[in-house]
Amino acid sequence: MSYITPLKGRRSEGGSSYPSGERYEPGMLSAIKSEDDFATFLGVQKKCIEIIEPMNDQPCKTKLCPFVAIKGNNKHCPIHRRTWFPLPGTRGDNMHGPSFFRHANVGGRICDCDQASCRQAGYFPNQSALAIPKQARDVILGTGMLFLEEKLHDFVDNPEKRIYLYPWHFFRRHLTFKNRKWSFKYNDDNIYADEEGKKFPCPPPNNSVRRFVAEELLSTTSPKDRWTTTGMPKWLMVMLAIDDNESDSALSKKVEAEEDMSPKAMQMKVELHRARAHSLKEQLDEKVKNSDAILAAVNERHAKEKLAWKEKHDAALSELKQKHEKELKANEEQLKANEQTYKETLKANEQTYKETLKANEQTYKETLKANEQTYKETLKANEQTYKEALKAKDADISAATSVIHDQKETIERLNEMIANLDEDVKEKAELLKQLRASGGRPLKFQDLFDGGMLSKNVKNFTFFHTAKQNDLFLEVLSMVFSTHSWQSRPLEPNTPACF
Ligand SMILES: [Zn+2]
Ligand SMILES: [Zn+2]
Repeated sequence: MSYITPLKGRRSEGGSSYPSGERYEPGMLSAIKSEDDFATFLGVQKKCIEIIEPMNDQPCKTKLCPFVAIKGNNKHCPIHRRTWFPLPGTRGDNMHGPSFFRHANVGGRICDCDQASCRQAGYFPNQSALAIPKQARDVILGTGMLFLEEKLHDFVDNPEKRIYLYPWHFFRRHLTFKNRKWSFKYNDDNIYADEEGKKFPCPPPNNSVRRFVAEELLSTTSPKDRWTTTGMPKWLMVMLAIDDNESDSALSKKVEAEEDMSPKAMQMKVELHRARAHSLKEQLDEKVKNSDAILAAVNERHAKEKLAWKEKHDAALSELKQKHEKELKANEEQLKANEQTYKETLKANEQTYKETLKANEQTYKETLKANEQTYKETLKANEQTYKEALKAKDADISAATSVIHDQKETIERLNEMIANLDEDVKEKAELLKQLRASGGRPLKFQDLFDGGMLSKNVKNFTFFHTAKQNDLFLEVLSMVFSTHSWQSRPLEPNTPACF
């Protein structure tokens, strides 16, 4: 089986990229006989191997990897990630060890200086840069030791800008080391001398960084302490021993076949096997210890996390419950207040309603009464008018009846007259008929005169009883209207009568 580490080389300012991770196969480390071999195998400088610091309670994050993680390598072994060391040109590339690297100093303030030796030494172990007291600021800037021109001008132009420096720029005798931290042993009144005897009113930043690191810091973190007598780091021996347990791979066999069989090489191999046997025993002990430690650590972590989660959960639950109860109470109070308000409003409305009803009833009654009175009066007035009108009509009808009666009587009389007239006309017609029948000739005006056929009936054909009277009447008329020709002419006896 083999694994590919997902890691890609990452770039860092001013340096080359980190070499990428390799596959791991059991037995692939069997050809490694020294630190140089291991450095070559990983593709890193030898000094990167020297600064490796295994984390015995932390297995490599890569699945099924048999090795432990190392410091500053994001919980991976050196095979599965290669980022535990600073790249050339970046802060700490002198590689004094993990405590000088960024991962051990996250968040700490970095030295403001421009010195290469400071940058190469790395991050000051276990603490931030020291804030320079304001009284010492000008002296520090005046030494001309720490800053390039641009930064120096920046500090001079901005008097309020604080300067921060790593303790290694100062002499040991001007510093105090207490509770694993360095600080100034600074007093305004004192005079401070550098190595050449030059005097300053504050601690001078003239010390050699390399010397300070060598004398004060490396003594506590020397890699040699971690090494066995074979000249190989103990952890590397352990790695090789672990890898050797499964050395039946093709690669392992190939290395075996190509091995140098000279007495010197054989001797070295014997030494190596002895070392491996020794380390195997140690490794086994260590492994048991590590396993127990890992298990214990995991259990402890698990228990802690569980407890933390439970506490978090309980706290959240409690808070939620409290919030809920508070809201519930607030709601209840609001409800109660609303109910009270509602009741009061209802009561007030009821009262208002009753009063309004009462007032309306009164108004209604009064209006009704007033209307009734008006109605009665109007009715009475109308009745009177009606009666009078009726009376007048009765009089009219009576008058009309009387007129009709009179007219009826007149009509009857007229009818009677008509009937009489008819009688008269009939008599005259009959007479005329008889006269015609007896005479046998047309009637003449002469017939009205005595001896004439109509002499006895003159009044029926003229306005007078006799023809003589008629003549006289015509004569008078002729005299009155003498200017008229036909009336001035005397009536001739043979002129036909006017009928
Ligand atoms: Zn690994
Ligand atoms: Zn510095």
